[in-house]
Amino acid sequence: MVQITMPLNFLGTVYREIRQALVDMGQMFGLLGQVPDVVERAGAKPLELAGGTVRLEDVTFSYNVARPILKNVSLEVSAGQKVALVGPSGSGKSTIGRLLFRFYDVDSGALTIDGQDVRDLTLKSLQSAIGVVPQDTVLFNDTVYYNIAYGKDNATREEVEAAARAARIHDFIVGLPEGYDTQVGERGLKLSGGEKQRVGIARTLLKNPAILLLDEATSALDTQTEQDIQDSLAAMGQGRTVITIAHRLSTVVDADRIVVLEDGEIVEEGRHELLLAQGGRYARMWQRQAHEQDDATAAQ
Ligand code: ADP
Ligand code: MG
Repeated sequence: MVQITMPLNFLGTVYREIRQALVDMGQMFGLLGQVPDVVERAGAKPLELAGGTVRLEDVTFSYNVARPILKNVSLEVSAGQKVALVGPSGSGKSTIGRLLFRFYDVDSGALTIDGQDVRDLTLKSLQSAIGVVPQDTVLFNDTVYYNIAYGKDNATREEVEAAARAARIHDFIVGLPEGYDTQVGERGLKLSGGEKQRVGIARTLLKNPAILLLDEATSALDTQTEQDIQDSLAAMGQGRTVITIAHRLSTVVDADRIVVLEDGEIVEEGRHELLLAQGGRYARMWQRQAHEQDDATAAQ
């Protein structure tokens, strides 16, 4: 028994190390879970930000030629706009996030930020313009300070604490046995889902990106925590372009625009009230989710 268990444990450790190295590509694991498939073009230029307008122009994309995933998707998210992507699992929502971050390139069409094709940009400038808060923030086996400071090269103590305050995790951190020097992660203090997500928010706030990509958790958090996190996310979105892969009804209701994806195509688009009034796919999704919400509340 022992002889079998030990190598397996060892493999588990190696796996975690590798996984952590992947995270180092830029806190993307929850959303993307993949390594970039693209290389920087010779003569690539740094992105010149002008507010962070994101445009997909007639984008077609497939992971395997045999199976198109996005089919002629055109979408503009103006600087400062909040757009929610909704749709059934597998409809291509996270794929749009992966293309934006340039984990893959489009097969045809184009994806631009402030009019610049992402294929012409340096990967570093692209990645520093986009902040991601994944469903499941993965923490490094290091101090909570390091886990936040990771968001920005040469961050100062003041900046780290300001980000933690804004993410409403500062008070919790100073209450820990060793404060900001407390070890967290799999070999340190285990944080709750909500606490981890706040660390992820603080990290992203420190990075101060023009564009935010949020991939919401479906149900990992209790209702109060979820509401608190929602408030932090909303505050973080101020003055930024926000694309949310949305599961929560509240996010969808407040979005400037809801984009409904189905099988790689945009099938409906508009504000909540408009889509409800249309009585189409979104309205049916909404009704179904509202019932689920009622059931969940009744069960608490
Ligand atoms: P959503 O986020 O809307 O649930 P995704 O964008 O993650 O959907 O995935 C869209 C489709 O692409 C799914 O059918 C999924 O199985 C497939 N897919 C996602 N990633 C890969 C990949 N790396 N290779 C092949 N197919 C993939
Ligand atoms: Mg997804």
